[in-house]
Amino acid sequence: MPVNVLFAASPDRWTTYETPLKRAFSEAALDVNLATDIVPEQVDYIVYAPNSDLQDFTPYTRTKAVLNLWAGVEGIVDNPTLTQPLARMVDNGLTRGMVEWVTGHTLRHHLNTDLHVLNQDGVWRKEVPPLACDRPVTILGLGTLGQACGESLANLGFPVTGWSRSQKDAPGITCLSGETGLQKALSTAQILILLLPHTPDTENVLNAETLAQMPKGAIIINPGRGPLIDDEALLKALDTEQIGHATLDVFRTEPLPASHPYWAHPRVTVTPHIASETRPASASRVIAENIRRGEAGKPFLHLVNRDLGY
Ligand code: NDP
Repeated sequence: MPVNVLFAASPDRWTTYETPLKRAFSEAALDVNLATDIVPEQVDYIVYAPNSDLQDFTPYTRTKAVLNLWAGVEGIVDNPTLTQPLARMVDNGLTRGMVEWVTGHTLRHHLNTDLHVLNQDGVWRKEVPPLACDRPVTILGLGTLGQACGESLANLGFPVTGWSRSQKDAPGITCLSGETGLQKALSTAQILILLLPHTPDTENVLNAETLAQMPKGAIIINPGRGPLIDDEALLKALDTEQIGHATLDVFRTEPLPASHPYWAHPRVTVTPHIASETRPASASRVIAENIRRGEAGKPFLHLVNRDLGY
């Protein structure tokens, strides 16, 4: 009997994922019936993206796991009808994409490339940036993405401090945790990178008080989630030059409305939630591996802790 896998995401995602998923199932020697419409009582696994119409998981009585296509789970983790195990996406392609995006934007600010790229006006501005070893970087969130970005930046010579809920021990990164750890991590952050999930505990982690704890003129790079930042407090901190620049990839409302002050602010860079995408080929192999494990009675990979919300 084939395993019934329901693909519950927007139609454009089906176009992108149908072939790579089928290939990954075949490579894993799984006999799978993959479809966008299966009688709920017969569904064994759900491949899910939060933009799906599926919001009521109650009829999926034999479903062994819901496999989220994205790393972030804030769109599903609170769903009271979801009693099945929930796994999130940890995909090497997604991780490498985030490392490239974060490293690129960190180097843009570190080297002050805008000064030259945007000013080809005949003025010889001989301003030499410090070396990376003199530019402390802090990463809030030391999970899959935060640690990979931290490792890459440490390899370039940046002194990297990271902060997480539980104490970590990551090579090349000064790891901090807890309330005092946050203060310490912010106090040295010439460049601050947000790679926390959005949960009730992380909402507005950057607010008037914490922004004031950073060195004057610090740079903020947020590829995490919009609600990590109190937007009004950030706009004020930019106007007083407490914060030198904010590069923001994620927002409370997406797409960011054209009237939002971030678009027009001279020291804000908006990117349209493109820091990193789940990559269909590698992500499909992750999905296939979890189904293989489920069928073999082994524990699922990347399970979400519903109490913590990530
Ligand atoms: P992980 O779950 O692997 O890591 C999350 C990290 O945040 C962990 O280190 C965790 O601590 C820490 N954390 C969570 N809550 C708290 C808290 N209250 N206080 C301190 N630290 C906390 O997630 P990923 O690294 O895979 O992804 C991080 C986020 O990146 C995603 O949730 C998503 O929002 C965002 N993202 C954005 C993308 C984009 O294109 N812009 C693409 C992909 C992801 P601990 O280690 O102790 O558990």
